[in-house]
Amino acid sequence: MERPKDEEIPVVTEEMLRRSAAWLAKRRTKAKPSEKMRCPTCGGVMRYANDMVFDCHVLGERIVIPNLSGLRCGQCGEQAYDLYSSDIIDRYTSDKVMGGYECSISVVGAGKLGVYFPKDVLRTMDIKPKTRAIIKPLTRRKMVVELQPGKT
Ligand SMILES: [Zn+2]
Repeated sequence: MERPKDEEIPVVTEEMLRRSAAWLAKRRTKAKPSEKMRCPTCGGVMRYANDMVFDCHVLGERIVIPNLSGLRCGQCGEQAYDLYSSDIIDRYTSDKVMGGYECSISVVGAGKLGVYFPKDVLRTMDIKPKTRAIIKPLTRRKMVVELQPGKT
């Protein structure tokens, strides 16, 4: 499985964050150090954290955003970004999500329909033959394919 090399990973710089911070400060609140919440996953206690890192692959690009704040579960590690950090994440991912990879629907045998994943998609996703996936139709024209690596 080929992975992008570290130097190819775009990291949101502190300068970029500072610019966002000025823009966001007016309209979004950060989590407070005293905030607590019950973890929706395990029932443990989620406490304030300001060292959270958003790390994801969006359309073949890895996006890493450090120094985010929110609440983290001490038991299972579940994280919830505060509004402020969610907005930062939106800002740096929304323009990417608008794009997409074009492919066509093929007949894969016995009249069944299938899609061949473009190479760029395969390169950046955790996908192998026989990986299980869940298809979630959102509308009649839009769907999400969620991979379940490890399940075969
Ligand atoms: Zn938890």
